[in-house]
Amino acid sequence: MSHEPVTVIGLGPMGRAMAGALLLGGHPVTVWNRTPGRADRLVEAGATLVATPAEAVTASPLTILSLTDYAAMYRILGEHPDFLTGRDLVNLSSDTPDASRQAAAWAADRGARFVTGGIMVPAPAVGGPGAYVYYSGPGEVFAAHEPALRLIGDPRYLGGDPGLAQLFYQAYLNVFLTTLSGLLHSTAMVTAAGTPAADFLPDAMAMLTDVPAMVGSGAEIAAEIAAGKHPGDLSTVLMMGATAGHILRTSDQAGVDRALPAAVKSHYDRAIAAGHGTRGWTALYDVIKA
Ligand code: NDP
Repeated sequence: MSHEPVTVIGLGPMGRAMAGALLLGGHPVTVWNRTPGRADRLVEAGATLVATPAEAVTASPLTILSLTDYAAMYRILGEHPDFLTGRDLVNLSSDTPDASRQAAAWAADRGARFVTGGIMVPAPAVGGPGAYVYYSGPGEVFAAHEPALRLIGDPRYLGGDPGLAQLFYQAYLNVFLTTLSGLLHSTAMVTAAGTPAADFLPDAMAMLTDVPAMVGSGAEIAAEIAAGKHPGDLSTVLMMGATAGHILRTSDQAGVDRALPAAVKSHYDRAIAAGHGTRGWTALYDVIKA
């Protein structure tokens, strides 16, 4: 079976990992990057480095973009690129859902088809077991390139709205980034007392994997939210809100930044004010959504 040529524009850690997975899968790979030296190892592995974005896009029916944001795509492709006609673009860069929708319309105006995506694993995990990628946009474009895209990670197609994959990506990254900030905030609280971070972080990391056992599976939480029922038989918003207050005061006493615990406490305060005090923690959804 012949493998379609694929172009990768953007060779940060993620773009390099994706280009490497495509090469390993037997695809002819063309690459372009603002800083060409980042292509060295890919060229050694068989990729073709070209000098301009126009050469890159016209080398393959499919171009994958892996950039810091969508502004970088416009900067690279230029205001009025005439080389996009008949090409398929899959942009796996982070931005907002609206930026993805605007880019799809921008590409369509220039004769290109556009799929947006969000890759859900770090660069070293690309192409390995457990790697998955959200996609949305025209289904026929996704289907045409699905064999190549599968080499990056398990593809999860969400539908025709090009903003949808980006929405899922940002929602997931919100969980990730908030968790990371929570970890570092808690570490700062502990180290302010002179305790080494190493005494605290192993247990904190272990707690992350215990969270589903503590609060239920995704399906169970989703069912509570869908039913609008938030059972408080094991723990209540009032109890957890009191703890949120203790965390904020402990932060203040430790002299560390208070923005994160203050935001969390505000969810509980508003839920209690709205009469959810005796319900379970999923009742916070109602005040957050509002
Ligand atoms: P990097 O920031 O390391 O690389 C970004 C790429 O964008 C580089 O090729 C860089 O070029 C290029 N770039 C940025 N701005 C411009 C510009 N103005 N003009 C031209 N080129 C530009 O990002 P990653 O490779 O880590 O990530 C790429 C995308 O993948 C991001 O959107 C990220 O959110 C997403 N992602 C990353 C993950 C990771 O673990 N790294 C995990 C999941 C998603 P140059 O080399 O010249 O600087």
